[in-house]
Amino acid sequence: MRKILVAGNWKMHGSKAMVRELLEGLLAGSAADGKADLVVFPSFPYLSLAESILSGSHIRFGGQNLNPHSQGAHTGETSGSMLKDMGCHYVLTGHSERRSIYGESDHDVALRFEAALQAKLHPVLCVGETLEEREQGLTEAVVGRQLDAVINHLGKDALRKAVIAYEPVWAIGTGVTASPQQAQDVHAFIRDKLRSLDDIIAGHLRILYGGSVKGSNAAELFAQSDIDGGLVGGASLTAEDFLAIYSAVS
Ligand code: PEP
Repeated sequence: MRKILVAGNWKMHGSKAMVRELLEGLLAGSAADGKADLVVFPSFPYLSLAESILSGSHIRFGGQNLNPHSQGAHTGETSGSMLKDMGCHYVLTGHSERRSIYGESDHDVALRFEAALQAKLHPVLCVGETLEEREQGLTEAVVGRQLDAVINHLGKDALRKAVIAYEPVWAIGTGVTASPQQAQDVHAFIRDKLRSLDDIIAGHLRILYGGSVKGSNAAELFAQSDIDGGLVGGASLTAEDFLAIYSAVS
């Protein structure tokens, strides 16, 4: 049985006051024995504050990206071991904004995924097609290729500690959500693909849906058999909105 995971990607948003208010609100409104696990991804400057507020609690946190190298002359970059040192348990890899704005290729993402595992972090591998790719019938080809980049580089066992987030690019930050059936179809494709490699890994791996998840659509999305939670952007920025999604888990 896979426990639902509700994860908040704060992107480049926040301030000390906002982080404190949001995390205190989440702690007050959620429980260690709740039906869902909660993870937040603050910007790097706020990881220390997140650690001080969340330390010893049931809410985990992670970095939004990491450099493939473990240390060295990489001005402006952050390594997996630094994230681990700050108390992170998770790190996002291959978010579509990293791929499209910062030019991260499938191979770059695989190297980051590898660095995450080396630092003993759980990588959250984001995959998903653009609207143009969907309209051309390429959704499975694109998602399959993004998965293969990691599997071919590291082998299937690399997925044991991972989470996958299916995030159709056309649904991120647009207010347009994939229908529960559209999302379920791609999640089932991902799980079937993994099942063909390893039944046990496929059965345990959590596959999150991301793309305009809100309190009003979360329950129906999470009720799909292969949707194991959500990666949430905009609606993770206030405790009220994020807890509405957390509360939708039945
Ligand atoms: C995201 O950025 O991962 C995301 C899903 O954003 P939003 O929920 O705002 O669409």
